[in-house]
Amino acid sequence: MIVIKDIESLRAVLKSHRISQNSISLVPTMGALHEGHLSLVEVAKKNSNVVCMSIFVNPLQFNSAEDFKNYPITLEEDLKQAEKAGVDLVFVPSTEELYPKGQQPVRLIAGSCAGGLCGSTRPGHFDGVVTVVSILFNLFNPDVAVFGEKDFQQLKVIEQLVRDLHFDVKILAAPLVRQEDGLALSSRNLRLSAAERVQALSISKALFWAKEAVNQGATEVKMIKERVYSELTANGIKVDYVEIVDCQRISPVNKIEKQAQLAVAGFVGDVRLIDNISLIR
Ligand code: AMP
Repeated sequence: MIVIKDIESLRAVLKSHRISQNSISLVPTMGALHEGHLSLVEVAKKNSNVVCMSIFVNPLQFNSAEDFKNYPITLEEDLKQAEKAGVDLVFVPSTEELYPKGQQPVRLIAGSCAGGLCGSTRPGHFDGVVTVVSILFNLFNPDVAVFGEKDFQQLKVIEQLVRDLHFDVKILAAPLVRQEDGLALSSRNLRLSAAERVQALSISKALFWAKEAVNQGATEVKMIKERVYSELTANGIKVDYVEIVDCQRISPVNKIEKQAQLAVAGFVGDVRLIDNISLIR
């Protein structure tokens, strides 16, 4: 596995892969790798000859300086995990390498999929995401890029980015990976105390309850949202949102017709967690 920090070297290595007619995949991450990230690598391996990963904690997508400062960084361990998982190239740029210094960088504005959910409660977040992902797509020009359904709205925002700006890349979605007890794997889980981890479990429990309720015939969005909301608050979670949305447009629905996505965000202590589940009638 090769680790690259600068754009010039990255371009040279990718050029040689292109000359050899290798297909290239990209797995963008912010590091603090876990099994969820590694499942994306598995998808990438099945769909390309050369698996590239980026590790970059993107300041543009943090709307809280505190959150950015506290984001876990475990680079040495990440590189070991990436190598073991079969990643061929890891790109670890500094902020100065990606964004021009001493000036306001060009920024993109995310499309309509960024309207609700995290887009409402974290203003500018998805603008930062589409900006950095566009930079990475321009640098790597990958054949495929893999994103996790853990960040369901992000996945839809990226799919819209690719559609609207005509990026020549195939977006592959990887299923959300959970721990055995249901907790969605997240880099932010590293910041939970043992007691907070127990609190956090109520998120997936509430989502599983909702899925079962819909399986049993429930269609009423208001009732499901209220029940999930009270489960979370009863467990000490400061709810950011509980929303049921159309899976493509990410706009709220009033009734579950065939399929919808239940998405939740909330603070356990000062750690913001998100989770989601597909509701199918
Ligand atoms: P992050 O490092 O949190 O920005 O995530 C990088 C990529 O990994 C994104 O596409 C995420 O959706 C994906 N990812 C993070 N956690 C999980 C998970 N538990 N299951 C599947 N994909 C995940």
